Amino acid sequence: MRVDPDTRGEEWALRADERDPLAWCRGEFELPTGTGGHPLHYFCGHSLGLLPKSARTVVTQELDDWARFGVEAHFEGTHPWYSYHERLRRPLAAIVGAEPGEVVAMNSLTVNLHLMLVSFYRPAEGRSKILMEAGAFPSDSYAIESHIGTRGLDPAKEVVRLSPREGEATLRTEDIETVLSERGREIALVLLPGVQFVTGQLLDIPRITAAARRAGCAVGFDLAHAAGNVPLSLHEWDVDFAVWCSYKYLNGGPGAVGGCFVHSRHAGDQSLPRYGGWWGNDPSSRFRMQLNESFVPVASADGWQLSNPPILAMAPLLASLALFERAGPAELQAKSAALSLYLAYLLDDLPQDMARAITPAVRGAHGCQLSLRIRGDAAAVARALRDRDVVVDVRPPDILRVAPVPLYNTFRDLWSFRRALGELL
Ligand SMILES: *Cc1c(COP(=O)(O)O)cnc(C)c1O
Repeated sequence: MRVDPDTRGEEWALRADERDPLAWCRGEFELPTGTGGHPLHYFCGHSLGLLPKSARTVVTQELDDWARFGVEAHFEGTHPWYSYHERLRRPLAAIVGAEPGEVVAMNSLTVNLHLMLVSFYRPAEGRSKILMEAGAFPSDSYAIESHIGTRGLDPAKEVVRLSPREGEATLRTEDIETVLSERGREIALVLLPGVQFVTGQLLDIPRITAAARRAGCAVGFDLAHAAGNVPLSLHEWDVDFAVWCSYKYLNGGPGAVGGCFVHSRHAGDQSLPRYGGWWGNDPSSRFRMQLNESFVPVASADGWQLSNPPILAMAPLLASLALFERAGPAELQAKSAALSLYLAYLLDDLPQDMARAITPAVRGAHGCQLSLRIRGDAAAVARALRDRDVVVDVRPPDILRVAPVPLYNTFRDLWSFRRALGELL
């Protein structure tokens, strides 16, 4: 879809929505309403994706099976609970570009990160550091510091943090490569985001992974803002591990079950240290229970599971992943790119000192989120936008995060955002 440079008008946006091949998809979601019962212009899919209407049916199905079968629903239910997590495997693998055995839906992001650090942060003499970014999400920093601490090392010495250059907002791939070629020998693990949560920058995962592996480091990615947002090929890129949550772009609902990728290179490696739990054990001996002497991890990402999965928390994710499949990755990417272009175009004539995009504009360096640095009180701007039925969020002190999500946002949503912002600034 092309953005016609001749118009910034509502007419253009409405016509773009009419021509949108994914227009049907918006109707599959519950849209929160604002004044007069009209749908809000919702740009917070980066924090909590909207409710797929089909999630009600899918969750009700499991409640009904619980009512009808009791414990026997584990094997006799419409979708037996024993193997329920298997149903998420194929669609999740498609989302992150993995082989089916490389992904598993379990726990939440931070828990999965801890489990991955147990296996992939293996400090050795002279190679004990972790490379991450200065602006990392706090949970990632806490997880990293707790692993360094529990190995008897000092987080103040072992964490190497990357910062953007003076006067710049985002990291440059070549700077990351330089650190890896100069200091890679000291670094045990590289942990970076796929999409940076404040700036919306999509990091060059394949180039960073290649540089890390050349330097002999393990490399993992936090895909909280990347899964369901940008194209990923984790298997091909040779990433060691990745973790993500499912309540952001994956629309799995508040606190939804997260995801984990472990490259097939590691699947059968029983020498990797890991936390064991019965659900990670080989299913053929899992139910021998007290008769089972020792832990035999499944030779796939499943081998990192701990507990039997929360069916009610997985069901909505299944509903959402079905929509991703129906929409198709190419169509979603095309619409996402068109929405981003249109948004950039709409904002083009705003004075730079009032609202300046810090998300890289080049293709391949962003997903759907656009981050704007606002002059003045960003929180007040967000509140005033909300009064005009536009929902964005603020990262203090001065960043507005705006995410047009191709599954349910429209071009007219963006036009409305631009109009509201124009009135305020
Ligand atoms: C949202 C987010 C998380 C959330 O972690 P949970 O364990 O799911 O609460 C972690 N890391 C990043 C980068 C995030 O954006």
